[in-house]
Amino acid sequence: MTTQPTPAALRVLISGGGIAGNAVALQLLRAGIRPTVVERAAVPRPGGQAVDLRGPSRTVAQRMGLAPGIRNYQLDERGMVYIDSTGREAARMPAELFEGNGAVAEIEITRGDLNQVLLDAIAEETARHGGSGIDYRYGEQIRALREHADGVSVEFASGATEEFDLVVGADGLHSTTRRLAFGPEEQFSTYLGGYTSYFTMPTPEGIRPHWMTVQLLPGGTFLGFRPDADPATTKVMISIRRPADPALRRDTAAQKQLLREGLAAGGRLVPEVDAAMDHAEDFYFDELARITMPQWTTERIALVGDAGYCGSPLSGQGTAMALVGAYVLVGEIMRTPGRPTAALARYNEILRPFVKSAQQLPPGGVKAMTPRTRAGIRASLALVRFTTSRLMRPLMTRMLSGTEDYALPDYSADLPAAEQGARPL
Ligand SMILES: Cc1cc2nc3c(=O)[nH]c(=O)nc-3n(C[C@H](O)[C@H](O)[C@H](O)COP(=O)(O)OP(=O)(O)OC[C@H]3O[C@@H](n4cnc5c(N)ncnc54)[C@H](O)[C@@H]3O)c2cc1C
Repeated sequence: MTTQPTPAALRVLISGGGIAGNAVALQLLRAGIRPTVVERAAVPRPGGQAVDLRGPSRTVAQRMGLAPGIRNYQLDERGMVYIDSTGREAARMPAELFEGNGAVAEIEITRGDLNQVLLDAIAEETARHGGSGIDYRYGEQIRALREHADGVSVEFASGATEEFDLVVGADGLHSTTRRLAFGPEEQFSTYLGGYTSYFTMPTPEGIRPHWMTVQLLPGGTFLGFRPDADPATTKVMISIRRPADPALRRDTAAQKQLLREGLAAGGRLVPEVDAAMDHAEDFYFDELARITMPQWTTERIALVGDAGYCGSPLSGQGTAMALVGAYVLVGEIMRTPGRPTAALARYNEILRPFVKSAQQLPPGGVKAMTPRTRAGIRASLALVRFTTSRLMRPLMTRMLSGTEDYALPDYSADLPAAEQGARPL
């Protein structure tokens, strides 16, 4: 007969210490469960531009007690402005347009800062538990998994082996947990036609303070600068339309070479971006891809965040999905703590409608974002002006309402509420 542990004794392994992994860990800790987190990187990964919190993800952040931390780091970003090759403004999209559901949301925080807010909340919760909290293992990863009737046997890269009741794969777009438990990446990943990179650099002259500033370069390159908490620095994003090239994986020199090719069309800001790339300590590069799966769980293994349902940065909802997914997963586990398998099945069902709408891409996808010719760039800018015109605003507002209608479950009866020390988000 299969034995089911009490909640506090539940042995949970989380693979990945990004937004999804840390959000799962925080809530488990609040519920009295002390998970193990293995993170491949040697330290929490810094970096990333502003990420949006809106609709259900904003409610979840509030319920997780992250409001005080988010308020500390919240960016003053007022919208998006397109500039032409001379630096003149060509189009603008203020944040409040489309009832806050446009490219810039009312609550913006850099991805790295949001991860820090989660880690701070975990440290606070750990102190409340008398110092015993999460077993974080940096520089570690899963090498093999074997699921059986009573749990999951895990072998780590370090050579250690351990038993867990549940394994949560929160290890991103190229998830090892997904590969080991569900099958090869190609089975679930759709390449969307381009690559994207983020890093921090000194703010170049000509960048509008408090606005995301975008320049479209001939050849199919999107060059964007988003505000940082420190106005002296900016978070640059370069997205390039290109066929898939597997040789780019883990080859940083080849990735930078590709970015330089994309920037070759020039422009006033390009030399500074080019120079900053080699000095950035938070250089990030990956393909634009979407993960779709019929099922995110087995009996004892669940995928959360990009590992299960990456929408690509184009969807603008990666962090929202990670937070909402983590909330629903832990909420369901705590609803029936003695029956984790049933909880994982419900997680699949309850989250599906949210993921379906959050994974939607803006019309035209990568192609619309990265026009190749000067005529294409002019047409793109004309389209931005048209969609932000008074005539089109009501229709666009309806089209962009996205995940607002999702019926987010309320787990306040099952998940201990976080203490709230700040006004609501
Ligand atoms: C450095 C960085 C910057 C980013 N910047 C942006 C951005 O500016 N805009 C945007 O829209 N999205 C960005 N993203 C993606 C965004 O964070 C996610 O879409 C979203 O937050 C969901 O997070 P996640 O935790 O599921 O995945 P991720 O944020 O990718 O986190 C996954 C974590 O798992 C770790 N990991 C990977 N493989 C293993 C393994 N085998 N074993 C253990 N750990 C593993 C990774 O090091 C990482 O810490 C960024 C991601 C990273 C890692």
